[in-house]
Amino acid sequence: MKKDDLIALDKRDPLAQKRDAFDIPEGMIYLDGNSLGVLPKSVKTRVSEVVETQWGQDLISSWNAHDWIDLPQKVGEKIARLIGAAPGQTVCCDSISVNLFKLLSAAISIQKRRGEVSRKTILSVSDNFPTDLYIAQGLESLLGDDRCQLKTVTDDTLADNIDETVAVLMLTHVNFRSGEISDMRAITELAHEKGVVVIWDLAHSAGALPLALDECNVDFAVGCGYKYLNGGPGAPAFVYVAKHHHGNLDQPLSGWMGHASPFAFDNNYQPAHGITQFLSGTPSIIAMSALDAALDVFDDVDMNEIRHKSLGLTNALRELIETADELNDLVAAFPHDECKRGSQVAYRHPHAYAICQALIKEGVVADFRAPDILRLGVTPLYTRYEDVWICVEKLRQIIGNKRFLQPEFAMRNKVT
Ligand SMILES: *Cc1c(COP(=O)(O)O)cnc(C)c1O
Repeated sequence: MKKDDLIALDKRDPLAQKRDAFDIPEGMIYLDGNSLGVLPKSVKTRVSEVVETQWGQDLISSWNAHDWIDLPQKVGEKIARLIGAAPGQTVCCDSISVNLFKLLSAAISIQKRRGEVSRKTILSVSDNFPTDLYIAQGLESLLGDDRCQLKTVTDDTLADNIDETVAVLMLTHVNFRSGEISDMRAITELAHEKGVVVIWDLAHSAGALPLALDECNVDFAVGCGYKYLNGGPGAPAFVYVAKHHHGNLDQPLSGWMGHASPFAFDNNYQPAHGITQFLSGTPSIIAMSALDAALDVFDDVDMNEIRHKSLGLTNALRELIETADELNDLVAAFPHDECKRGSQVAYRHPHAYAICQALIKEGVVADFRAPDILRLGVTPLYTRYEDVWICVEKLRQIIGNKRFLQPEFAMRNKVT
């Protein structure tokens, strides 16, 4: 594969124009949209309008006049289209961590209502994203281990551990280190056969690949607003709850925004109907408006088109890296089989951290995941095929002449 082949692919790319919808710093190649998506131009206008006019001038009347009060549901519906969810099941709120606490508790409440009190286990895999496990540990210490126990197993023993002791299975659809996709349909079906409720974390899936939550019979899901959805740092997350569970569960963060009539100021909690029950406190309107505007970029986008380009980009990265002699020490740590590959590649190297820092200095922003992974994420809305070429050229120079060994690249920042 040559540079000209990649430039030709850019010329034929039906998503090529989408890059103009984003503000990408001059000369930067950004392969970190799986950690923080770049700034959509529409967000800048929207945020200044929300701050200057809605907040600045219209003040409290904006809750009605600019429909702030329904923003969580409105943004939820925009996300629903991207994840294969029919209306009324998705709402935008809080962070993934907070939303997982609500969903894990809700899942346990479903088992209790079914009379399945002996199901105590929250089952997950040991290489799940840490915050997901931390939240389960928090719930375990809150409820006590006679009511709730986290059990983590390896991926290859997962199926054998789904049994009648399990209340809820909590998994991440695309692994954050390896980018490996789990079989959502098959695992959900297997869990249901054993009476287990399933929560899927879509942090590295929503906006990156086509999803079919309704079709896969998913019970619950959470996902991230600041990664592939480009909602900005700390953008609110989302929650999906399948319709058939509505009204049949308890949600412990029972704040007023999830009350049936918040402005009745009743002393007793009465959950709202439907997905609104999953709201807790007042939404962060500026942040949620940014995400709302960011989602407009997806309006005319077919997720299959995104997936097609994502695989084109990761295949090109793989081929260029794996045929370069200087890069023999990079060991692939992601699925070769493209059906199982998310929108990233990952390579192990003992100096992955320093290599990543040297790449960033050269204007190619990648990231490092402990202990030894160099992660290159592709975001088809704004990554070009040519970017892949430039990235691999820089890698060849940095590794070929061992430039990564310079002391400046060994310094660790607080955020890696
Ligand atoms: C990024 C990410 C999160 C982040 O959770 P927040 O609470 O929203 O910060 C959670 N889970 C996974 C799998 C992630 O990749």
